[in-house]
Amino acid sequence: MVTGVSRRGFLTARPAPAFRPLPPGITTTSLAACTGCGDCVTACPQQILLIAEDRVAIDFARGECTFCDACAGACAEAVFTLPAAMGHRAAISDGCLARRGTTCMSCRDACPEDAIRFIPRMGGPFLPDLSAAACTGCGACIAPCPAEAIAMRQKEPAHA
Ligand code: SF4
Ligand code: SF4
Ligand code: SF4
Repeated sequence: MVTGVSRRGFLTARPAPAFRPLPPGITTTSLAACTGCGDCVTACPQQILLIAEDRVAIDFARGECTFCDACAGACAEAVFTLPAAMGHRAAISDGCLARRGTTCMSCRDACPEDAIRFIPRMGGPFLPDLSAAACTGCGACIAPCPAEAIAMRQKEPAHA
């Protein structure tokens, strides 16, 4: 039980990430309508939402998004738009253990979309190859990565 901390203070306790992953349907533009009320935070069954700098954000270190839409249903403001898709995709950094010579496939095993495959190579562990086209941005690969080598990046705009 948290005592001596207001609900708002509790919800704003964590710092804002350098890149702010947003729940499905929120754009960098529509985020301006967020009042920081925390209703979506309370509604999320995965408990991955937080309020940072008076706006909603996702912390994928806590878990993955299941695209259940509970956050959108709880929001009284014009924050959530359609389609209810993520504006980001996962990216693997050079901190990846496999790239550094240690066998690891935790991200592949965690991905519900089979978006991460491993490429065989001579003289070293298989290397992860993440398909931005197949990735939904759900974040299921982030917490299981032992090297914290996966982060979200802004989705590339579709080419005409
Ligand atoms: S869609 Fe569901 S799981 Fe994803 S952030 Fe919203 S409430 Fe949480
Ligand atoms: S889980 Fe992390 S360290 Fe392991 S292969 Fe995937 S990105 Fe690399
Ligand atoms: S964010 Fe989700 S869909 Fe994308 S690679 Fe990670 S687990 Fe797979």
